[in-house]
Amino acid sequence: MQADSLENYPDKPLAPADSVILIIDDNPKSIKALSLLVRDFGEVVFATSGSTGIAMATKTKPDLILLDVEMPGMNGYEVCRQLKADTSTRSSNIVIVTSHKSVEHEVAALEAGAADFITKPLNAPLVRARVKTQLLVKKQADELHKLAEQDGLTGIYNRRYFDELFVQEWRRHQRQRSPLGLALVDVDFFKAYNDEYGHQEGDECLRAVAHSLRDAMRRPGEQVARYGGEEFVIILPYTDQHELHKIGPWLCEHIRNLERPHAKSQVSECVTISVGLASTIPSVQVAPAQLLGLADKALYQAKANGRNHSVVADKPLD
Ligand code: GH3
Ligand code: MG
Ligand code: MG
Ligand code: MG
Repeated sequence: MQADSLENYPDKPLAPADSVILIIDDNPKSIKALSLLVRDFGEVVFATSGSTGIAMATKTKPDLILLDVEMPGMNGYEVCRQLKADTSTRSSNIVIVTSHKSVEHEVAALEAGAADFITKPLNAPLVRARVKTQLLVKKQADELHKLAEQDGLTGIYNRRYFDELFVQEWRRHQRQRSPLGLALVDVDFFKAYNDEYGHQEGDECLRAVAHSLRDAMRRPGEQVARYGGEEFVIILPYTDQHELHKIGPWLCEHIRNLERPHAKSQVSECVTISVGLASTIPSVQVAPAQLLGLADKALYQAKANGRNHSVVADKPLD
């Protein structure tokens, strides 16, 4: 923050930073004291007011925020409430730091959404112990969150997360009046693959296809998820029908290039996929599921036309 200048402020953490800790306090001396206590837990950033603190939290996504209560302008409780109300900052754990030691203040901190409470004057071992605990709690929460979004077999996003992401992207593209593309991918003759090579080898093949699809992504925001069984779905932001005609064949080629033998395929000596693609500019009159429906129909056509290729839905949604 440009307005925040501190004499002799330690700008480098002593240990390799794997957590980010944001200190919000109007008093540079308090920032310095706290920073010295916690800097070996991670990278320390700071702000000297509630509003710059919120901006900093949005930018740096800290694991932990040490938040002073008594500040001119917005006080710590209000800052805490705002951080917890905003989805982009809500996952940071907040520890309130105050010179008021009373049950009422502690309750106010917890009600504002803080995870813990530290009183001034600072007690070094206590501050370090609380900060360490909160960083651990945050790490565990992050891991759980990641697991909840992941497909167990392939490690890529799962269907549940895709559903969430798709609705988010749908709304974003609707606001921006931009085309949103979708690709549904299905492995060809996969039942025969399992029968020939065994279920375990089948699993291995699904992993290879999943990772290869993910590696094939070229633009920011493109996301691959396992849709179910041997089917995958890809979100293609800002992609119109014209571009889909290039992406479909590129995906098919990408999987062919794995050159994974498939003796029982009727269309190739290697594992292949069929792809159905569709794009639309989202609007309130149309539900996201309709775009999925279009892509699914296109996939069905790709299968019916012989597999190992892609079809782009040409019928617009209205
Ligand atoms: P098509 O070319 O028409 O897509 O034929 P297909 O055999 O690929 O399609 P079908 O729907 O008949 O079979 C899909 C197979 O995928 C059947 C199922 O056992 C297998 N499968 C689904 N999930 C998994 C999985 O997690 N691991 C393994 N190994 N196989 C799976
Ligand atoms: Mg203060
Ligand atoms: Mg299938
Ligand atoms: Mg299949």
